[in-house]
Amino acid sequence: MLALRKTTPGFGLALEEVPEAPPPGPGDVVVQVEAAGICGSDVHAYEWTGGYEFMVPRLPLTMGHEFAGRIWRTGTGSGFHNGDRVAIIPFIACGHCAACRAGDPRGCTRRETIGLTRDGGFARQVRIPARCCVPIPDHLEMELAALAEPLGVGAEAVLTGEVGLGDTVLVLGPGTIGQAIALMARLAGAARVIVAGRADAPRFEVLRALGFQDLVDVAEAPLRDGVMALTGGRPVDVVLEATGVPESLNDGLGLLKRGGVLVVAGIHAGALTLPLTDFVRLRHQLRATHGAARRTWDRVIAHLARAPEEFRPMITHRLPLERGIEGFELARQRAASKVILTP
Ligand SMILES: [Zn+2]
Ligand SMILES: [Zn+2]
Repeated sequence: MLALRKTTPGFGLALEEVPEAPPPGPGDVVVQVEAAGICGSDVHAYEWTGGYEFMVPRLPLTMGHEFAGRIWRTGTGSGFHNGDRVAIIPFIACGHCAACRAGDPRGCTRRETIGLTRDGGFARQVRIPARCCVPIPDHLEMELAALAEPLGVGAEAVLTGEVGLGDTVLVLGPGTIGQAIALMARLAGAARVIVAGRADAPRFEVLRALGFQDLVDVAEAPLRDGVMALTGGRPVDVVLEATGVPESLNDGLGLLKRGGVLVVAGIHAGALTLPLTDFVRLRHQLRATHGAARRTWDRVIAHLARAPEEFRPMITHRLPLERGIEGFELARQRAASKVILTP
C-alpha cells in the first residue's frame, strides 16, 4: 500500500510502497483510514526545522495523527467489530508507569504518538491499540471526524481557560487550533470571540466562513489597537494562545483583565521573557494545555454530530494520498488551512 513517510532526518517526506498492516495482536485493531488531516506539527516535521529530533530513532515511519476510518480487522478482546466507524486518539499511554498506574494516562511518561513515534494514518491501513479508537455516529462524515483531534485540543484549551457565559475571549493565532479554540469558546458561551493573526488571508477567510467577524490583523495595526477598538477599551476575560510565538504571550497579557487566565496551546521553539511585576500585581494566571482528555473527545464528537456544517469550513483542501506532498506544500506556504488526505 502507498504511505506518506518520514524516512530521513531532513527536509521532506517520501511517498512509498510499504507492506500492508500486520494482523492485529490481542487488544489491537487494523483501521482502514478514510480521511487524515495534515497538522501544523506534521508540517514542522516535514520542514525539519527543529523540535522533532525524538522521531530520529523511529525513522522511517508513516506520519498522520488526525484521522478517522473503519475497523478492518480486530484482535482478540478489542471490543470492536469489522466495519465500526471510529476517530483515533493518537496518544498511547504505556499502562505501566506511575501516572498510568494512578489512572492518569495523560500524565504517562512513556507515551507514544501515532504518526510521530509509530506508524500513523497517511496510509490505507494502520494497526493500533483498540483503546485509541472512539466510535463515531453513522451519519458523521469521515473528513469531519478527522477534525476531532484538533477540535479536542481547542476544547481542552477552552476548558483550561474556564471560558464562561458572556466572556470576551481573545484567540491569538488563526490556524486550525486557533479556529478550534474560537469555535469551542463560542460553544462555551463566550459573547465575543476576537481572533488575531498576521497577514493570513486564507485563514481569516475560514474564520469568516465559521462566523467570526472580530478579526485583528497585526500586520495592519498593533494587536492592542485592534482589540481595544473592538472592546471599547476594555481588557478581555480570557486569552488563548495558538501562535507558537513567545512574544504573542506578552501582547496577550497586556490585554488581559486583572486575575484573568492566559492559556498557552502553541508549541514554542523560543523562550518567554515575562515582566513579573505586572504579572504579579495583575494576578494573571498562565496555564498550559496539550492534547485532550477522553471525555473531551466525546464532547467534541457530540458537537460534530449535532452540527457538522458548523465545522466543515475548517477544511479548505481535499487531496488523494498520492498528492500528499502537494498538500504539505499548500499547508507550508499557508495557502491552505486544513488539508484532508484520503488514502
Ligand atoms: Zn496535530
Ligand atoms: Zn505510562
